[in-house]
Amino acid sequence: MSIFLYKSVYADSVTKELGVKTNVDNNYTWTITFNKDADKNTVNNDNIKVTDSLGNKVAVNLVTNEKTVKVTPVNFYKYSETYDINVENVKDLNGNSLLQKAHMSFIVKEEPQKPNPGVTICIDPGHGGRDPGAIGYSGVKEKDVTLKVGLKLGNILKQRGINVIYTRDTDIDLAPKTSSFNVSADLQKRCDISNAANAKYTISIHANSFSASSANGTETYYYEGSVEGKKLAEAVQKHIVEDLGTTNRGIKDGSWLYIAKHTTSATILTELGFLSNPEDERKLNSDSYQNKYANAIAKGVFEVLGM
Ligand SMILES: [Zn+2]
Repeated sequence: MSIFLYKSVYADSVTKELGVKTNVDNNYTWTITFNKDADKNTVNNDNIKVTDSLGNKVAVNLVTNEKTVKVTPVNFYKYSETYDINVENVKDLNGNSLLQKAHMSFIVKEEPQKPNPGVTICIDPGHGGRDPGAIGYSGVKEKDVTLKVGLKLGNILKQRGINVIYTRDTDIDLAPKTSSFNVSADLQKRCDISNAANAKYTISIHANSFSASSANGTETYYYEGSVEGKKLAEAVQKHIVEDLGTTNRGIKDGSWLYIAKHTTSATILTELGFLSNPEDERKLNSDSYQNKYANAIAKGVFEVLGM
């Protein structure tokens, strides 16, 4: 779209109406074309004006090149807003008026809808409540790390339009309260939540422990035979190792894991690091590193979803 302004036979006091242009991009550059070279000194923000629907002047950059002036907004135009361009008093190199006054309106297109990937992801912060999980070198509890990283991950995914459900979002376990803590009942409840939500992916978050404090690093499990699960495990593992600088222990067959066996989703279980290792434990217990873990897992999700 261009605006062509040729000096017409009408008196200069009559404004030439150029109509309304619709569906204009919010950063659109208008090109005004005259029939003679314009005097740059007469091209300015008083002679070429863009105003919004309230009549306020909008900042635009003007670039003059012989017969043309390009008009670009300094900031993006607002979606769905109506603007006016008025052009007057632009002269040619001999000082003759190049045109009568001209006016045109344009309406910026509607804001594009954010793509909703239509995907539900189940986040499973490992352990909780009566089950603390692993206890770290200096006493950090696995259940606290997994919950914090899980909630941070959920917030990141939700911001991008992904439906998120949690197996838990507070410090609880999911086994019946009436008896002593029952691991398989707790795990089955987590699988039920994922299955009921028809989650595409389940991401179970854990931290490791070993008798020797030297053991360290990140590893991620997937259900052997799940192509989608393996892809997600690879992507999540890669981003955690890259962003956190943890030792890469690789992706592993986790078909034996209760949560992998009893969920209908593509399910992964990531062991972020070793709580039994002082350096890993320090990262797992740090708020800023927990943000990095959550971000890295989210990157893996976005990668497999092509977002
Ligand atoms: Zn665990």
